[in-house]
Amino acid sequence: MRKPKIVILGAGYGGMMTATKLQKTSAYQDAEITLVNKHNYHYQTTWLHEPAAGTLHHDRTRMRIDSVIDTNKIKFIKDGVAEIKPDEKKVILEGGELDYDYLVIGLGSEPETFGIPGVQEHAFSIRSVNSVRLIREHIEYMFASYNNEEVKNEGYLTFIVAGAGFTGIEFVGELSERVPELCKEYDIDRDKVKIYSVEAAPTALPGFDEELVNYAVNLLESRGVEFLISTPIKEVTKDGVILADGEEIKSSTVVWTTGVRGNSVIEKSGFEAMRGRVKVDKDLRAPGYEDIFIIGDCALVINDEINRPYPPTAQIAMQQAKTCANNLKQLLAGKDNLETFTPDIKGTVASLGGKEAVGLVGSKKLYGQSASMMKKVIDNRYLFLLGGMPLLLKKGKFNMF
Ligand code: FAD
Repeated sequence: MRKPKIVILGAGYGGMMTATKLQKTSAYQDAEITLVNKHNYHYQTTWLHEPAAGTLHHDRTRMRIDSVIDTNKIKFIKDGVAEIKPDEKKVILEGGELDYDYLVIGLGSEPETFGIPGVQEHAFSIRSVNSVRLIREHIEYMFASYNNEEVKNEGYLTFIVAGAGFTGIEFVGELSERVPELCKEYDIDRDKVKIYSVEAAPTALPGFDEELVNYAVNLLESRGVEFLISTPIKEVTKDGVILADGEEIKSSTVVWTTGVRGNSVIEKSGFEAMRGRVKVDKDLRAPGYEDIFIIGDCALVINDEINRPYPPTAQIAMQQAKTCANNLKQLLAGKDNLETFTPDIKGTVASLGGKEAVGLVGSKKLYGQSASMMKKVIDNRYLFLLGGMPLLLKKGKFNMF
């Protein structure tokens, strides 16, 4: 008898965890499982601010997929997903096509530009190993170029981070730690370097506890970061940014971190979506499709307590992967009583570079080194869940103190 085909798109937090759960529960005996990803490696998106600033080598954030997944049990295809044809039960890849009985979409997110002119053309974004390698190289090139110009270009040493949300603050934290090192290496006076954190909302880290926000802002200001709060950016140009009031800040490096939208494949494939995210049913299936699960940043789940979507996080993607794998197992067993997905938010910790962080774990506020240690525990826990002790020992963060 032909085994049902399960196709998982994307080897991020959601896709990898779904695949490993199916592998661990021997689902491959009842189904032909295929994982598709555009690279042959998995990277931890939540660590990308570090290689972007150059405080961690990018190889520390990634691992070959076949070092975690047994490709004799789960087939791996390295290819880009171009489109999904849900009514034909087909996935169009850049290099071919696949049919499926059950599909899991875990293609992650793309930067949200809000239609602001120039973002696509002139700003960098923190979204993949390739994109952060470019940011790190570019920053170093700016430092290296400065003293080679007869007429000094201050824009080379001005770094603008658009968005003071979670990603923006984590990147600013790393960058402010790296700058003194770069100044030393390239013979540049620290006072010449400017780092701006520009935020349209009335506070940095919107939605975070006020005391934690104050701690983060004070710490980053003490490292020379200048916050421009309640300051929308009107346009990004090749020379910098133009603020809503018309003021221009000259900069050769604008890093765009104002939020994300679901992968463009979602809208291209005709799913009804809000900012590229599909409001999934309680069992994580796409409305109207009994054979398609959507997880991670492509899925939208409403927090009924405040009637607003949960922010897209790795924490939720991993929890969804567990529910998704359980539900696939049920379907393979011919049962239709599927599990309801209920997020269990354990807390949030934002790193601020070095041994500093802020966070809320349960109802406990954490600051400084204890928060930084907790952040590393969270990063290490993920590695353990994904690949057990061997992966943790190989890739873990053990510089706790
Ligand atoms: P991802 O993990 O992004 O994976 C998507 C995968 O799909 C990638 O492997 C990608 O290569 C692949 N892919 C994309 N498009 C295609 C295509 N067309 N074809 C084939 N493959 C494709 N969340 C937290 O919970 N805690 C944190 O501390 C935290 N910190 C963060 C810090 C930063 C700097 C950033 C950027 C994000 C952070 N997040 C954090 C958010 C978190 O990273 C995401 O919510 C999470 O990665 C979503 O998981 P995912 O599986 O949906 O997508």
